[in-house]
Amino acid sequence: MDVNRFDVVVIGAGFAGLSAAARLASRGARPLVVEARSRLGGRATAFADRETGALVDNGQHVLLGCYRETFAFLREIGAADNVRLDRQLAVTMIDREGRKSRLSCPPLPPPLHLLAGVLEWSALSWRDRLSIAAMATPLKNARRELAGGPVKAASADETVEQWLVRNGQTPRLREMLWHPLALAALNQPAERAAAPPFARVLAEMFGGDAEGAAIALPIAPLHAMYAEPARAHIERRGGEVRAGAAATVVTDVDGGAVTAVRVGSDTIGTARVVSAVPWFAFGDLFDREPPSLRATIDRTRRMAPSPIVSVNLWFDRPIFDEPFIGLPGRAMQWAFNKSAEGGDAHGGHEAAAPGEAHVSLVSSGADAMLARTNEDLIRAAHDELLHALPASRAARLLRGTVVREPRATFSLAPGQPPRPPAETGVKGLVLAGDWIDTGLPATIESAVRSGHHAAELSIAH
Ligand SMILES: Cc1cc2nc3c(=O)[nH]c(=O)nc-3n(C[C@H](O)[C@H](O)[C@H](O)COP(=O)(O)OP(=O)(O)OC[C@H]3O[C@@H](n4cnc5c(N)ncnc54)[C@H](O)[C@@H]3O)c2cc1C
Repeated sequence: MDVNRFDVVVIGAGFAGLSAAARLASRGARPLVVEARSRLGGRATAFADRETGALVDNGQHVLLGCYRETFAFLREIGAADNVRLDRQLAVTMIDREGRKSRLSCPPLPPPLHLLAGVLEWSALSWRDRLSIAAMATPLKNARRELAGGPVKAASADETVEQWLVRNGQTPRLREMLWHPLALAALNQPAERAAAPPFARVLAEMFGGDAEGAAIALPIAPLHAMYAEPARAHIERRGGEVRAGAAATVVTDVDGGAVTAVRVGSDTIGTARVVSAVPWFAFGDLFDREPPSLRATIDRTRRMAPSPIVSVNLWFDRPIFDEPFIGLPGRAMQWAFNKSAEGGDAHGGHEAAAPGEAHVSLVSSGADAMLARTNEDLIRAAHDELLHALPASRAARLLRGTVVREPRATFSLAPGQPPRPPAETGVKGLVLAGDWIDTGLPATIESAVRSGHHAAELSIAH
């Protein structure tokens, strides 16, 4: 047995595990990170495209200005320059009839900047614009709830849609603003997702400064954006990252305390483990199921997944200038201009040849898309662009690829099992991951907050 070479073993190298290990390393501990897959990054990673070898993200990831722990993590590992943060929320939207407009929030204190942006938004009638005022009180309540007040902004058994209707949001404003925002933040349609996590997201976005709602896009393939810099940070401080090997947690006979982690034929003695695996892998993590975790494991087996499908299209010329555009009311709700981001890479070089354009279209809450064939999805994505952007008719589609992530996030529908806290009844075991009870939906920020919290708990133990 390999005893005590490491202070903590972190299992899983997604945002949660890497942020936990980076924080541990910064605090002088020596973490060992064990990752089952050969590539780091978990559900936020990039892979080499089979046809061209170009590095393609497993799906476009968007960060928000209110992702404070994520930005702290990126600064800690020296990777803050790998994302480009706008100063405030500004989005180009093309509605189902093909009308283009721009929602641009001026630099006013929130939520006034949203109110002012919507009042100026040409996509809406005056009645639609004015209905935003009815959200002032729910937003204020959401911010008070976030600050620990007794008020509840939304009830746990109502959906986002019911909450928006109850608060007087018109069908057009729901379709153009709230539905795309809810789908992007929750990865579930407003008619299915529960309202409280959405109210929480709005409180974070519109609660601090105007930058809270601004969008940040990675400018490098995802694993290079944060996972490899995190590995370098951890290893520079005496930790280690081992990829390509699944870990099993070994406990004492009654399952009351962690004693070791098994990785292949290697048994690493340790009294401290951070589990940073996704909810669907948690039940298989133990050599024998600790009795105190039975209820948590049972709940993870009842958590429903929510998929994301991405379609990547390469054209012989650029088809739009913006970094991204919203396509509300369509099956693919956002189109990202990967060439404009400078995010394409092929062994360090641009994946799209000069003059070509790489566009990534995203379908969130994509249950209905999973079973469709690649050809069908590529055709559907191309058709959406042809309809929304007449200029794209002049461009030749060179090729397309599809990425399906059936378990991209967990469902936030009312009635889903409660999420567990970080601390467990097993001595030495702390939980991290986007699915831990952070109050946030399954996002990078939820993963990183849980990772940082787990690191602090492990150090304190
Ligand atoms: C296509 C897509 C688009 C998304 N878009 C956004 C977005 O725009 N904004 C946003 O904030 N969030 C987005 N998300 C969600 C975000 O990616 C996740 O919330 C986040 O990456 C979860 O990180 P994690 O570390 O908790 O889990 P994971 O990334 O799942 O990492 C867990 C790791 O544990 C490993 N593992 C499992 N079992 C074992 C074992 N026994 N031993 C060793 N390793 C193990 C897994 O291989 C995995 O690498 C998106 C997700 C997807 C899939």
